[in-house]
Amino acid sequence: MACTEALGIFLLALLSFFSRDGTATGLSPDQDEPAVTRLREYLRIETVQPFPDYLPVTRFLIQQAQTIGLDSKILEFAPSKPVVLITWTGRDPELASVMFNSHTDVVAADPSEWTHPPFSAHMDSEGNIYARGSQDMKSVGMMYLEAARNLIDAGFLPLRSVHFSYVPDEEVGGVDGAESFVNSPDFDDLNVAVVVDEGMPSPNAKYRIFNREKILWSFFVRAVGSPAHGSRLLDSMAVENLRQVLNRVAAFRESQINLIKTGMVAGEGDVASVNNVYLKAGTPTPTGFVMNVQPSHAEAGFDMRIPPEADAEALEELITKEWAPASHNLTVHFVTKQNTCDENGRYMVTPVDDSNPWWVLMRDVISQAGGNLGQPETRIGASDSRFVRRKGIPAFGFSPIANTPNLMHARNEFLNAKEYLKGIKVYEEIIKAFSGPHDAKGKLDTVESFYVNHDKLESIPENIHIEL
Ligand SMILES: [Zn+2]
Repeated sequence: MACTEALGIFLLALLSFFSRDGTATGLSPDQDEPAVTRLREYLRIETVQPFPDYLPVTRFLIQQAQTIGLDSKILEFAPSKPVVLITWTGRDPELASVMFNSHTDVVAADPSEWTHPPFSAHMDSEGNIYARGSQDMKSVGMMYLEAARNLIDAGFLPLRSVHFSYVPDEEVGGVDGAESFVNSPDFDDLNVAVVVDEGMPSPNAKYRIFNREKILWSFFVRAVGSPAHGSRLLDSMAVENLRQVLNRVAAFRESQINLIKTGMVAGEGDVASVNNVYLKAGTPTPTGFVMNVQPSHAEAGFDMRIPPEADAEALEELITKEWAPASHNLTVHFVTKQNTCDENGRYMVTPVDDSNPWWVLMRDVISQAGGNLGQPETRIGASDSRFVRRKGIPAFGFSPIANTPNLMHARNEFLNAKEYLKGIKVYEEIIKAFSGPHDAKGKLDTVESFYVNHDKLESIPENIHIEL
């Protein structure tokens, strides 16, 4: 599939536009679990953007690795922004490894807007743990480690090496975190075959999974014209020309919303979004604006997100020729223009069909763990997965958090202890499946056969390897 090929759905979108229980402690057994206590400890560490202190969180993670019996190391691509890499070395470290990634930073939370202080990790009588990061995504980072802890206790030994990466700065673009890490020789040395990263909570019983995300294009349009007295009725004035851009963008926007409303696409992830984020014009005075002058300059900024398989060329033409033609004294300036292709010239989409053995494993094992998986989705906002997919490595966005309202970045973000413990079980199965023996078609052996004792290692065939 060439990246330059146009995708049906997106063309359709463009065409449509153009054509128009109780214990002594008072806690239930779930709430009293040591794993829950450890999660709450992690949640209390304040790694808040824009000035996170990563030292306490680094100490905490290294200490966790030590108690579990896993190796850890710190990689630093920018001062005071550590990547903590925890490794469970496989029996055959020559095989490609698997990676479970999470970010250690969180967005700010205003305590006055929260029922409980956002870094108290308060747990109510229902087992709901309130904390910034309880969904996004310290919970998932701890699920990985708790799953590893349980598997080690049960005697499981991975065939492939398993890496748990804890990266900084995801909430501010990941430049000094995942992006630097994924593009480093340290990452290349790990020979990673597949990455699992954050997903999103689901309000119903079905877990959400993401195999792609929208591509960000942000740009502004500048309009120029002759300045004129406010009384003149003239053609081609800067503000007037910019207003027409806004009209054309609004019409496109409406066409995309209609595609969702009429059910022609599954959801917001399958259409392009474009939103006007600022407007700049006028001649300021100390108290306001000059009211009788038509200004010579006007500017509008846009946040645009396009589906990963969009026809980038056609879209750029739409923006520069249809929305903001130079003949109207309009110029388009891109601030961010992410590539729609990966390093191999393919769409940045992780396949979710039988061709991808990792998908087959993921899908099957989640249902075997008693999880109910929804259709793979396009993530609307950005995550660290994009850096991995850019290198042509498959990546899944998966947070096993069901029956929970999505409160990422919102007030009163919470996670129920029961849901958290269930997530650990799901990750146990995923780690076993991904790191254990399976054949080239990605067919899963019985999960029980993955449990081995140290003295039975020879009985495991050595020639199994997934070709990707
Ligand atoms: Zn996140």
